[in-house]
Amino acid sequence: MAKALIIGAGGVASVAIHKCCQNSEVFDDICIASRTLSKCDAIKAQLEGKTKTKISTAQVDANHVDELVKLIESYRPDVVLNLALPYQDLTIMEACLATKTNYVDTANYEPEDTAKFEYSWQWAYRKKFEEAGITALLGSGFDPGVTGVFSAYAMKHHFDEIHYIDILDCNAGDHGYPFATNFNPEINIREVSAKGSYWEDGHWVETEPMEIKRVYNFPEVGPKDMYLLHHEELESLALNIKGIKRIRFFMTFGQSYLTHLKCLENVGMTSIKPILFEGKEIVPLQFLKAVLPDPASLGPRTKGKTNIGCIFQGVKDGKPKNYYLYNVCVHEECYAEVGSQAISYTTGVPAMIGAMMLATGVWNKPGVHNIEEFDPDPFMDALNKFGLPWKESFDPELVD
Ligand code: NDP
Repeated sequence: MAKALIIGAGGVASVAIHKCCQNSEVFDDICIASRTLSKCDAIKAQLEGKTKTKISTAQVDANHVDELVKLIESYRPDVVLNLALPYQDLTIMEACLATKTNYVDTANYEPEDTAKFEYSWQWAYRKKFEEAGITALLGSGFDPGVTGVFSAYAMKHHFDEIHYIDILDCNAGDHGYPFATNFNPEINIREVSAKGSYWEDGHWVETEPMEIKRVYNFPEVGPKDMYLLHHEELESLALNIKGIKRIRFFMTFGQSYLTHLKCLENVGMTSIKPILFEGKEIVPLQFLKAVLPDPASLGPRTKGKTNIGCIFQGVKDGKPKNYYLYNVCVHEECYAEVGSQAISYTTGVPAMIGAMMLATGVWNKPGVHNIEEFDPDPFMDALNKFGLPWKESFDPELVD
């Protein structure tokens, strides 16, 4: 029996909360805390009476360590699951440190005024967490998250050495809008409009945004255009998968999305530099977020599948070996089960599982760690149990 404090009440949090409530043998008590209390109360109202998990709600501004400390001290959770935005990672980690509470998130810290995401800020807490005897699990979504668990599983069971990893993230869902993002628009657009990069032979190779394109025939989905992006798990996997020679990340985008994005970029709407508008300072990207469809509203409209996974190439018993691990998720099925589309679903399920690993002590490694540093087996079993079954292929099509 465990208590989880879930911070945030957006698309991903809603799924993680539904999953905690399906898993009341572990999570018998949860508290949903976010900036807007009414959103927490609305999720509670959807679930109350349908679960054995006791649900409470609270208002908190997670930019303020003192507010967080007060809340954690009064609720006393076994784990804090951070599903707010990457901007709040460090304040929430500070509060966990002050109260000696385990910490889980799904995205690495990003300062609000510079679109630069990397682990250095959070890794700087390693010693402090170790000394406090608490665990921080970084990146327990799908990518980062399941992609790291897949990598640890491949290393443990299938390879002596992994030389190449290609992470392929395909969303073949159609929401019927010419342009919308499947998770927080501000975070999503910052990610995809940044320069691309990949890790090769011990260093980063930088590319222009969307410069490298491939077409891949995804199992159960079919051929899709995909583009090389920088992605945060590349940084930790390059360190944690010993002997790795190259690691790349590709995401699929449709032509309509790319055309709209280019146009919005060209007119300055994706900028994070504040401008004066009618005497008030506004950030163009935040204004754009306000006019775009709320990702949470895409659930009932989105049809089709996602396929996210990793292709590994390496050596086993002296022979070359290829191995592909992936999950296929159906948007309509996610909506029927928890009222969200598959992008929130594929992130919220592993977030709950990561919190469960720490809350139950199945994973216990004081310090600040990325997900591939833990034993993948219990997590892989939980993926099958909680709605993200994985599939494997020993003869996958490779990406050139
Ligand atoms: P949403 O925008 O839907 O939700 C964010 C939530 O955080 C909202 O409830 C928001 O409150 C709350 N919040 C924002 N600022 C604060 C604050 N200062 N104090 C308290 N609460 C705050 O985002 P998503 O659910 O789409 O994404 C959540 C996280 O998941 C993001 O960090 C995202 O990067 C990550 N993610 C990770 C993925 C992965 O595979 N690893 C994939 C997709 C997302 P309010 O409603 O008041 O604005």
